[in-house]
Amino acid sequence: MSLPDSPIVPTIPLYAEGKNHGYLRLPYSRNDSAWGSVMIPITVIRNGSGPTALLTGGNHGDEYEGPIALQALTHDLEPAEVTGRIIIVPFMNHPAFLAGTRVSPLDGGNLNRLFPGRPDGTVTQKIADYFIRTLVPMADIVLDFHSGGKTLEFVPFAAAHVLDDAEHQGRCIAAMEAFNAPYSMTLREIDPVGMFDTSVEALGKTFVSTEIYGGGTASARSARIARKGTVNVLKHAGILAGEPDCAPSTAIDTTPAGCYHFAEMTGMMEPLVDLGETVAEGDALMRIWLTTNTGDPPLTVRSKRDGILAGRHFPGLVKLGDCLAVVASPIED
Ligand code: ZN
Repeated sequence: MSLPDSPIVPTIPLYAEGKNHGYLRLPYSRNDSAWGSVMIPITVIRNGSGPTALLTGGNHGDEYEGPIALQALTHDLEPAEVTGRIIIVPFMNHPAFLAGTRVSPLDGGNLNRLFPGRPDGTVTQKIADYFIRTLVPMADIVLDFHSGGKTLEFVPFAAAHVLDDAEHQGRCIAAMEAFNAPYSMTLREIDPVGMFDTSVEALGKTFVSTEIYGGGTASARSARIARKGTVNVLKHAGILAGEPDCAPSTAIDTTPAGCYHFAEMTGMMEPLVDLGETVAEGDALMRIWLTTNTGDPPLTVRSKRDGILAGRHFPGLVKLGDCLAVVASPIED
């Protein structure tokens, strides 16, 4: 059974030469706007024939480095600098981004768990469907920014997934290395079902994602990493002239067992190791203290493996089941 057409309509042409700013308009009828719309900003920059890059931020609404780098690009970049086409969507889940929350306030939709989406579903499912059936098929390379959000923080990394096809994985790793974050992560997701990553990779596209710090804000350093990585990926794709500007990057891996640590108690986190520090199996990563009474001992959370602390819960209170720590394995050359 074929799917219905997407209800989303771009207000600008997606193939036109030059630089066009507009919206992806999604009809959304509600109390305060009977025939209203969700309006997702988009810029398309095209100059002649060449590859197409799709650059996305705001897949989660509380992550800022991608939106900063991409919003800057929509303003700064001129068509004459481009060979091919760049489709830029800095705030994919725009309702969530405006609310400063991971998921959409309209339907509770976590965009990065709803791919490939539905054209006849919720607002967030409709956004997912438009990307997968309309924008991603136009692209040769897709860069999707993440930054931990309000409840996680990471060492700054670009990531490529473990894929079945070696040629495809090689393309993704080359693009990740071109991004040149301080860390380069070979990633196996906790649960890949519904992720943009998974759907884009299923279409055979070269795909890079990131996690660049987190905690629900950006820093000068994190914004610089995102801006440089964006330009580097566009150079790598041949869309901007020149070679990527690459410094040494630490290769890490979350594919072995025991990388992820989850809270088995609710309470207050006392970190014992900071991001980027080396740990051995059995080392204490953090203590969780009770907050309901005094005098009881804490729960000590110990590393299940040797590695580098690549991710940690944020902020100070943790709940049963929260992801507390990600201990990644360094990859030897
Ligand atoms: Zn995210």
